[in-house]
Amino acid sequence: MLHSLQALDRAHHLHPFTDFKALGEEGSRVIERAEGVYIYDAEGNRILDGMAGLWCVNLGYGREELVEAATEQMRQLPFYNTFFKTTHPPVVKLAAKLCSLAPANLNHVFFTGSGSEANDTVLRMVRRYWVVKGKPEKQWVIGRENGYHGSTVAGLSLGGMAPMHDQGGPRVPGITHVRQPYWFGEGRVGEERQDPEAFGRQCAAAIEERILELGEDKVAAFIAEPVQGAGGAIIPPESYWPAVKAVLAKYDILLVVDEVICGFGRLGEWFGSVHYDLAPDLMPIAKGLSSGYLPIGGVLVGDRIADTLIEEGGEFFHGFTYSGHPVCAAVALRNLEIMEAEGVVERVRDELGPYLARRWATLTDHPLVGEARSLGLMAALELIDPASGERFDEALTAGNLCRDISFRRGLVMRSVGDTMIISPPLVISHEQIDDLVSLAREALDETARCLA
Ligand code: PLP
Repeated sequence: MLHSLQALDRAHHLHPFTDFKALGEEGSRVIERAEGVYIYDAEGNRILDGMAGLWCVNLGYGREELVEAATEQMRQLPFYNTFFKTTHPPVVKLAAKLCSLAPANLNHVFFTGSGSEANDTVLRMVRRYWVVKGKPEKQWVIGRENGYHGSTVAGLSLGGMAPMHDQGGPRVPGITHVRQPYWFGEGRVGEERQDPEAFGRQCAAAIEERILELGEDKVAAFIAEPVQGAGGAIIPPESYWPAVKAVLAKYDILLVVDEVICGFGRLGEWFGSVHYDLAPDLMPIAKGLSSGYLPIGGVLVGDRIADTLIEEGGEFFHGFTYSGHPVCAAVALRNLEIMEAEGVVERVRDELGPYLARRWATLTDHPLVGEARSLGLMAALELIDPASGERFDEALTAGNLCRDISFRRGLVMRSVGDTMIISPPLVISHEQIDDLVSLAREALDETARCLA
């Protein structure tokens, strides 16, 4: 049964972010079911899902309330669109709930089916906004190298992932990228070795330099994740965000904070923007919005933009068949209600985040670990060669080796180069955090033995 499934998968299924040929040779792992923080594969192995699916199953697996919300809504109204002056109860209630949770200046939502569509929507809105404001020359969007904003053409253009750019052909014009506030990867190394806070300020200054190069009247928006997720759980130095805010305010540039990963409790607040005291003009969301149970995303829109588009914009020629899909909206609403009722976000902030930080920091004594960092329930380990104290030779693909060993030993950890990442469900217990850290240490031990 397992082998015939793998054969069919190989024959017919093109996986996202996958080397098709290598997968064909190895065969896919078949995941059959899940409960709480665990997934179970077709061979009966139980694996602690240290990545909450793809940074999204915030409430954990097997929540009957979400199944019921979907079932009820499917019976009541499985689909209706929100185009052309129609609406339905779940989407209205979800929009209102989101606005009650978001920073005070965000009072409208545009729904999408995914995070990538949310960022396409961002680009449409940013450019439309400045045209309506009578400043059509404000067109440039500044993103960051190694930022991730999705895989559609606009998403990959806003993002700064070099391998995606290399494969994507011509990108959306008018988007440029500045350096990322990645101290371990870029601030700590090379001739300009510097302390993290000075490095954070320098990365913010790079935004101002780019604004001046492009022309201060030509820049429409800056887009960034509060903490870069897919780039490697990169927590910026404390100096970074205050300095960025000041630069954007100086040149009247919109702030787009991509909360697709950081939103919905990941960093111990409802949004990363709350943690960093940001008042974004646009805030793309997805993933944890429905705990990944159904696909739904959106953009929370700040008053400045919403008022302009509503009062002066006329018809906005943009939207998706599944914008505000009623079943997805009903599940998302129930998800947020449960998170509120169970105090999930506060627990991450006050209890689980600090506990993970303490336990995760114990891994710094491992010879392979150059840095262990965490914020809320997102954490990373930087692998180094104990012989040199520097990165391993890239050809060794130490990170992928560690990831595969970890999976075999019962823990999903992701690798980005030689950075190991975890982002577990927000309902993980203290004991499960202990297990996670022990499994990570075992994986590091075995990786070290393999590389010796
Ligand atoms: N933005 C960020 C910060 C993400 O991490 C992702 C996905 O990982 C996206 C956007 C794209 O979301 P989706 O995969 O739902 O299109």
